[in-house]
Amino acid sequence: YHTLRVILGDQLNATHSWFKQQDQGVLYLIAELHPEATYVTHHIQKLCAFFLAMQRFTSALKENGHDVCYLTLDDTQNQSLEEVVLNLAKQHNIDHVELQRPDEYRVLQQYHQLIARNLKPKFCMVDSEHFLLPFEDISRHFKPKHSVRMENFYRKMRQRFNVLMDENGQPEGGKWNYDSANRNKLKTKDLNEIPTPLSFQHDMRHLLERLQRHNIPSLGNAESNLLWPVTSQDALNLLAFFCENLLPNFGRFQDAMTNKTPHSWSLYHCRLSFALNVKLISPKHVIKAAVSAYHENDAIDIAQIEGFVRQILGWREYVRGMYWINMPDYQQQNELNAERDLPSYFWTGQTKMKCLASAIGQSLDYAYAHHIQRLMVTGNFCLLTEIQPQQVDEWYLGIYIDALEWVELPNTRGMSQFADGGWIASKPYAASGSYIHKMSDYCGDCHYKVKEKTSDESCPLNSLYWHFMVKHRERLGKNPRIGMIYGNWDKQNDAQKYAVLQRAEWCLENIESL
Ligand code: FAD
Repeated sequence: YHTLRVILGDQLNATHSWFKQQDQGVLYLIAELHPEATYVTHHIQKLCAFFLAMQRFTSALKENGHDVCYLTLDDTQNQSLEEVVLNLAKQHNIDHVELQRPDEYRVLQQYHQLIARNLKPKFCMVDSEHFLLPFEDISRHFKPKHSVRMENFYRKMRQRFNVLMDENGQPEGGKWNYDSANRNKLKTKDLNEIPTPLSFQHDMRHLLERLQRHNIPSLGNAESNLLWPVTSQDALNLLAFFCENLLPNFGRFQDAMTNKTPHSWSLYHCRLSFALNVKLISPKHVIKAAVSAYHENDAIDIAQIEGFVRQILGWREYVRGMYWINMPDYQQQNELNAERDLPSYFWTGQTKMKCLASAIGQSLDYAYAHHIQRLMVTGNFCLLTEIQPQQVDEWYLGIYIDALEWVELPNTRGMSQFADGGWIASKPYAASGSYIHKMSDYCGDCHYKVKEKTSDESCPLNSLYWHFMVKHRERLGKNPRIGMIYGNWDKQNDAQKYAVLQRAEWCLENIESL
């Protein structure tokens, strides 16, 4: 072989130009690596999903006539990526190593070091050919440590890629954004309509055994089969299922939460994030398929398709831009000086707060929670109780099937914890129990009373919310989007205010027993 091409676990892009032709002189490397399996404690299903997807990708490449060296944990033991690559290059006397641009800063650092070696073998890096916005264009849209609003970026992306635009260059339907139509709660009659999610049955017993043998720490629950997509074909099937069965209601119930049906965990969400993030499917393809479905199916209205396109063409590309422009500074941000430890029920779901128990419980069972659960249930709780952002990041980075730092960090530290002081969010996503009550059916059978603020049984979020708002009044009071909220606080008498803050103090001191 003259060339070694390295494929990382999140670079399973079969449409990459590398694979356009078979070349006898090219060897591909795909390796299970101990450092990648342990840089954070991952969910057991996430570990299995990555390794299974890598194995299936290897088989597909081989079937197409490519030479691939797949190394398991047994082969790589405790070696780093660099060691594995250099050993293999030496073994085959390879003088040229090609890499794809990684999505994570940590890996890019490693790659830059390799490229800088300038010895034999020579390293070079090519694009990963996945995202819509070329990497080089990130600095044209984003500025370090500066707020850039998603909505402005999204409109430019809609125009640039001509998605949902009419022939006059105007947004289809006349409006850019139908977010206000995306806030329905699920009523009892809606619950029976929720389709059974399409899931897969990939045997992962051999991987569970291997992970155990190598003492790879993990969290969460697993059975013997994995229900997540691990091949491009799985991803295409899931996409087709989504377009037909879920897209007609995607926007409408995008923010809704329930724990009253067996399908509560996924509702109308597409569950394509893992497949997208490991590049089994491209964002361009997903958008194209969804827009075609909208044109062909009258049951899908503009608010549904726009809501979906906004997530992928807007949010996903936007957080990637914010990540790269702000790394490595992003991972140091702690603007609100949050220092508390994450309570232990984040690993068990054992809390009397029904909203948290539901969101954490399903995350442990499925390695998945949808956006509003991540933002407004677990995220909101960590924001209000001032959990150290590092710990919050680690939890999110470990537990979700789709968690890779480039997308996890801006969402968690930025959007949900406001630790960047507002680069992403124009205000903190802080909410009392009434928001959860409005968007979910969690509160009905909760131990705590969502209508109460100060009693021993009052919903902790109610007092914690005001504690947070009062504590950060100086910063937040100036913000036109929240200034008026303080009017409600000022209207209360001193005794009421005191009782609310006392209850919040109690909750903070006894956070482990909530
Ligand atoms: P759907 O709800 O069906 O949305 C469709 C697609 O849009 C998703 O697959 C995803 O690719 C994209 N998308 C939607 N929202 C976002 C967003 N805010 N940022 C980036 N892409 C988005 N997403 C991840 O992929 N990895 C993460 O580690 C991650 N961490 C998050 C942490 C927090 C605190 C929050 C609030 C959100 C996080 N998200 C993350 C975004 C979002 O919650 C998930 O992408 C989504 O829940 C995945 O489920 P789905 O595929 O069913 O998405």
